[in-house]
Amino acid sequence: MTAMPALFIGHGSPMNTLDDNAFTRSWRALGRMLPRPRAILCVSAHWYFGATAITAMPRPRTIHDFYGFPEPLFEFDYPAPGDPDLAGEIVEMVKPDWVGLDRDQWGLDHGTWSVLAHLYPEADVPVLQLSLNALRPLQYHLDLARKLATLRRMGVLVLGSGNVVHNLRMLDWQRPDMGYDWARRFDEAAMRQLAEDPAAVLTLADHPDHAKAVPTPDHFIPLLYLAGMAAEEGLPVDPLLQGYSMGGISMTSYGIGVEPSSLEATPEEVGGAARVPQAVPAVETNT
Ligand code: ZN
Repeated sequence: MTAMPALFIGHGSPMNTLDDNAFTRSWRALGRMLPRPRAILCVSAHWYFGATAITAMPRPRTIHDFYGFPEPLFEFDYPAPGDPDLAGEIVEMVKPDWVGLDRDQWGLDHGTWSVLAHLYPEADVPVLQLSLNALRPLQYHLDLARKLATLRRMGVLVLGSGNVVHNLRMLDWQRPDMGYDWARRFDEAAMRQLAEDPAAVLTLADHPDHAKAVPTPDHFIPLLYLAGMAAEEGLPVDPLLQGYSMGGISMTSYGIGVEPSSLEATPEEVGGAARVPQAVPAVETNT
């Protein structure tokens, strides 16, 4: 079996679920070139709590984990099935690390379905979520990701969903495609670091803009899962798109093992999202 790609997608606002914009069009284009996996394991910024758990219910519910958004977003449903057997296999795979089987607590949160609504709009591929253990250091997530790398050869697509830069206290709602200077600096430093040595991604904690770019770790940690898998597999981390939203959010997304020829077949550069062709240095193109 050909190994599945793995992805990190900068998800931004929950409204991206329903919106037609430069980012969601890029996600749609990406989805059209992705293979059909046996299942998707999503590592979402929005399941951040004091344990490592994996959803293990046959029909995970769609969780609307936000408030103050328009009614249609609360009516959105992503009815993908789960895969309890695969959840059990993953629990075994990562031992002696402990992962709890969640049979009735969580489900699919908007970090997962705002992206999958575009990558796999039919919702017919089984989806599992892995929680982010808030009690463990960042290195734990990189190490756990290395153990999950073998999922690629089991037909499972691992999807990290967060944002490299995510500062909700410093948003400019009037400028949907803008990135503050500090946000751009950190985002570009992350891109350079991932290109150079994904295993050393935690050195970004020493970057002068880190405190503003990553005020809390929840949206940054999903990136560590892609970096850890890339390090384990010896694969380059390829930028898929680079862009910003409302000043304090980076929408920049990455992949490993994504077929380069298919990426180049659908070049796109609209608004704040610039698709970055494989093997070409990322360029600053948005306004
Ligand atoms: Zn989020």
